[in-house]
Amino acid sequence: MIIGPPGKPRKLSRKQLRKVIHMTTARCSCGFTELADESLTDHLQRAFMPEDCRGNDGQVHDETAVFTCRCGYVATAAQGLDDHFLEAFTPAGAIGRDGDKHEAAQPPERHVSQLSLDLP
Ligand SMILES: [Zn+2]
Ligand SMILES: [Zn+2]
Repeated sequence: MIIGPPGKPRKLSRKQLRKVIHMTTARCSCGFTELADESLTDHLQRAFMPEDCRGNDGQVHDETAVFTCRCGYVATAAQGLDDHFLEAFTPAGAIGRDGDKHEAAQPPERHVSQLSLDLP
């Protein structure tokens, strides 16, 4: 599923910096798999963030300064602000602007084959 960019290129450069910090492979229920140039958080924000940046609470949420939201929320780290945005913009049922459901899925657990199976 392709979702158009929210039209805020100034945010992308900062998020690209965040990707260096948050390098975890994750998937979305729509089939999206985290790529080198787009994280799951970016994908979810793209899916849920409305054009007017108005959150579920009716307030406008947008990054105004480092880790600071227009609503007054200040995060201590990039992940905190991302979480704040996801919480503010995720609609009931996690249905994105494209009509698909988007929900973070945990990457499948790795069952390491080198487990020792010393049975009695
Ligand atoms: Zn906010
Ligand atoms: Zn998705």
